[in-house]
Amino acid sequence: MFDEFFEARREAAVMIRAAGIYVGGDEEDRITVTDFELGDLRKEGAQILEWLNTKRVCVRLIALFPFQTLPEHHHRRTKSDPGKEETLRVVSGTVLVYVPGEDTMVYGSVPRFQEEHYTVRHEIVLNPGDQYTLAPGTVHWFQAGGDGAVMYTFCSAARDANNIFTNPATVKGCRINDLG
Ligand code: ZN
Repeated sequence: MFDEFFEARREAAVMIRAAGIYVGGDEEDRITVTDFELGDLRKEGAQILEWLNTKRVCVRLIALFPFQTLPEHHHRRTKSDPGKEETLRVVSGTVLVYVPGEDTMVYGSVPRFQEEHYTVRHEIVLNPGDQYTLAPGTVHWFQAGGDGAVMYTFCSAARDANNIFTNPATVKGCRINDLG
């Protein structure tokens, strides 16, 4: 199991570099791999390299394997925080973004047996150079196309404890952190 996570980290680093983005060796070691505790990384999971996360701004790189899905969630509003605003910009591959609205799903698909945990089906297709901004509080999920994808996310301060996943089985932490 842990081998699978280390392999995923390595593969993510290769994808990111292939997209033309410099990743140093120590940065590679900081790539977080998470299956959101759902137990099937290639189906629902993400590889995330955080470059910046101050009190106000967060910049991350997300690598998704072919058809890998980042589960549906939204960023909760709190007393001190109106909820995270998030902008995606695709560097390589295709990212399908799902948000509330008319069901326009054509290219993607809801992970099998997880239908109840994916409630929004309005599809937005992002190719390299395309970007999309999610307003605070918008329910969303992402899925990579058949070549996988590398994308930036730029957002207001990220407090992952405020991420609310539709599937209650997901966790907010990242399993690879268990490795120390
Ligand atoms: Zn999000």
